[in-house]
Amino acid sequence: MLRLIVTTLCLWCLTDAVWAQNQINGVRAAPSGDKTRLVFDLGAAPEYTYFSLSNPDRLVIDLVDTRDDQDLSTADISGSLVRKVRYSTPKNDHSARVVVELARKATPSLFPVEPNGSFGHRLVVDLLDSEPPQSLQVVAPSVVLNTDNNSRDRDIIVAIDAGHGGKDPGSIGRAGTYEKHITLSIAKYLEEMVNAEPGMRAVMTRSGDYSVALNKRPEIARKSKADLLISIHADAFTAPGPRGGSVWVLSMRRADTELGRWLERTEQHSELLGGAAEVISDNASERYLAETILGLSMDHSMSTSYDLSQKVIKEMRSVTKMHKSSPQAASLAVLTAPDIPSILVETGFISNPQEEKNLNWSTYRKRLATSMFEAIKSYFRQVPPDGTLWASQKALNRQHKVRSGESLSLLAQRYNVKISSIKKANNLNGDTVRIGQVLTIPRT
Ligand SMILES: [Zn+2]
Repeated sequence: MLRLIVTTLCLWCLTDAVWAQNQINGVRAAPSGDKTRLVFDLGAAPEYTYFSLSNPDRLVIDLVDTRDDQDLSTADISGSLVRKVRYSTPKNDHSARVVVELARKATPSLFPVEPNGSFGHRLVVDLLDSEPPQSLQVVAPSVVLNTDNNSRDRDIIVAIDAGHGGKDPGSIGRAGTYEKHITLSIAKYLEEMVNAEPGMRAVMTRSGDYSVALNKRPEIARKSKADLLISIHADAFTAPGPRGGSVWVLSMRRADTELGRWLERTEQHSELLGGAAEVISDNASERYLAETILGLSMDHSMSTSYDLSQKVIKEMRSVTKMHKSSPQAASLAVLTAPDIPSILVETGFISNPQEEKNLNWSTYRKRLATSMFEAIKSYFRQVPPDGTLWASQKALNRQHKVRSGESLSLLAQRYNVKISSIKKANNLNGDTVRIGQVLTIPRT
């Protein structure tokens, strides 16, 4: 418990102290034969991660604690392999994302270089050309670093809301566990997973132990143009008995049923999301669910939330018992952004001694985050938002209807893709496919 608090505080201080320390001073290119070398001149030693994307071929480099406000339009980048170097939307306020657009596939190798003579810190990017030009060509400088963030391969943005924080501890367990610490820890695990996934980016409504007003939270999601808002909580009850997770679909819609009005009154009074917990014990919530969720006038973001909630429940079942086996509905206007599908995950009852113990175990919290992440991926694989990398990749996928005698390994061979890629694209757990099943065959 104590260690958790200390860790949280220190992480917060640390990120504040080293805010965007590094900067890009310039970029140069030197094509030679089958290799093109890009050199980024930096203010300090770089901390970075990178990944490659295809269709079109790109190398994406994320630089930690680096400003992306440096004007590099005068950069001299010429050659037949590198088409353009530009910024893209960074993972967070403190980092820079650089996209190297390539004319064709290239194998990247990145390494930092220490200051030497008149040169400062550098990040060297060697790109090994997959099809080097046969003869030397004269190529006009094409350059340029533009700051176009609206490329058609934008990231899917997942807003993660760690419930409570600061002077609001949320529910408190019998052994003294604060909900606010549990929610932040799970949120951070989820953030890490989302950010490691190409084409996805996380936005946190809070990243430390401080208060964020309830109505500020959806505003953060809205401002960052989030495709989804997922709010993480832990339940509590007056008795130690109740246990298990539940998933709530959040709606802006004003309920016009008697129960709906009662719900809204409850929220006004408690003004906290914890108010949702009270509804769980009420059987009438099932009726409310039927009326609002399954009603004919179900709006888009709510049906999206409902689909996603079902997936979260399915994934969470492998980690924890579920208190409710179907998504619950709540008209928690304070935590809902119109048009952004929003769900609230109650990860368990902190008031139940066994679940409090579980929630205090980091592996368990990580498992919960993984189950949410798997559900999010599975959902966006099916319906990637327009303009995202996932949408353009889906457009490239093929469909295959399984016929008698066909197996995964046979299909993998025929389409020249890995079995694991087919399984991933279709969210398959086992190795069996059934006749008539329609499979998505990825291009890569
Ligand atoms: Zn809560």
